[in-house]
Amino acid sequence: MTETLDPPALSATNLHKWFGDKEILRGISVDVEKGEHIAIIGPSGSGKSTFIRCLNLLEVPEQGTLDLEGRRVFEASEKNSTSSVRALRKRVGMVFQSFNLFATHTAIENVSLAQRLALGRSKAEATNRSEQLLERVGLKAHMYKHPGQLSGGQQQRVAIARSLALDPEVILFDEPTSAIDPEMRVEVLRVMKELVEEGMTMLTVTHEIQFAKEAADRVMFLADGEVLEDGPAEQILTDPSNERIRRFVNSLS
Ligand code: ADP
Ligand code: MG
Repeated sequence: MTETLDPPALSATNLHKWFGDKEILRGISVDVEKGEHIAIIGPSGSGKSTFIRCLNLLEVPEQGTLDLEGRRVFEASEKNSTSSVRALRKRVGMVFQSFNLFATHTAIENVSLAQRLALGRSKAEATNRSEQLLERVGLKAHMYKHPGQLSGGQQQRVAIARSLALDPEVILFDEPTSAIDPEMRVEVLRVMKELVEEGMTMLTVTHEIQFAKEAADRVMFLADGEVLEDGPAEQILTDPSNERIRRFVNSLS
């Protein structure tokens, strides 16, 4: 038996998040191994978005810690400087349901901007990298279009290219296909599957059970701000032992 000596790519320990007097996350922990893809499922309002937003500090948990490759990057009990937040965001990318592209910029400009601002790449260097990435997500022919001229699926692929352009160690996806017409989803899911196959470390909030079966190693089921189940995707999605999860999965399949 071989044991891996590598620390997890990302560890979150005992995250608690309050909005007002409501405790939205009630002690969530996860170790994400390098190259692992975890699907996060659960009912609406269970805290899935809040949880992954805490992983790159778009929301700041009141309790808990974050570690990247075994190094502490956040500790709620200590007041962190904004520089560590910025450093974390470069290492942990995020892809949103609503794409969040700049409407007044072309696809290639959208992919280049963050590289120039966050990494200080030159215009030529950023453009070159953007071209490679847009080709990789199947958008070579659409590089000079604005988001308004692209389908939802194409816009989301631009957003994935933008995230990849910062060379993150982990990418978080929050319902990446929910705002896309069903026939346009397949291309986005194909790009995500390729990332999984290439060994990218990913967490994906999704209602696409078939995709999770095919492309996730593990599934976390969240309910009421807690992890109800965390285990192999195959087992949880095809034969869940928990009745609540069974009903949820059946309702989506
Ligand atoms: P999910 O992604 O699983 O649907 P969310 O994490 O979006 O769940 O929301 C969990 C709960 O937290 C919901 O009750 C939601 O109304 C509440 N919530 C989320 N964001 C905020 C916020 N910024 N302010 C107040 N309440 C929020
Ligand atoms: Mg959500």
